[in-house]
Amino acid sequence: MDFGFNPSPKPSYRRRKPTSKMRGRITPEVYNAALERSHGRCERCGKVGELQAAHLIRRWKIEGETTANDIAMLCGPSVNTGTCHNWVDYTAEGREWAEEYRRKLYAKSE
Ligand SMILES: [Zn+2]
Repeated sequence: MDFGFNPSPKPSYRRRKPTSKMRGRITPEVYNAALERSHGRCERCGKVGELQAAHLIRRWKIEGETTANDIAMLCGPSVNTGTCHNWVDYTAEGREWAEEYRRKLYAKSE
């Protein structure tokens, strides 16, 4: 499967080490592909800042491995109310947005 990830090194983004708060197995390749797609901005509000990989779908719904289309780079931290990661993780509206966004990502990659 090709999700548009280009393995050639691109030093433009500082790599962040995934925090222990990130649940789900996101490989460095998947993380970097999503980060590249986001251009370093929150994929919902466009803010530049601390981005976190947020799952767009409940983990048990993912068939096989988590791909870049299953996550979005969102502003965090997820424990802070008002951030997009928090919104997606803890509100019904955010959850809906996430599933819709995921559908769009998959539609684009086909
Ligand atoms: Zn945001």
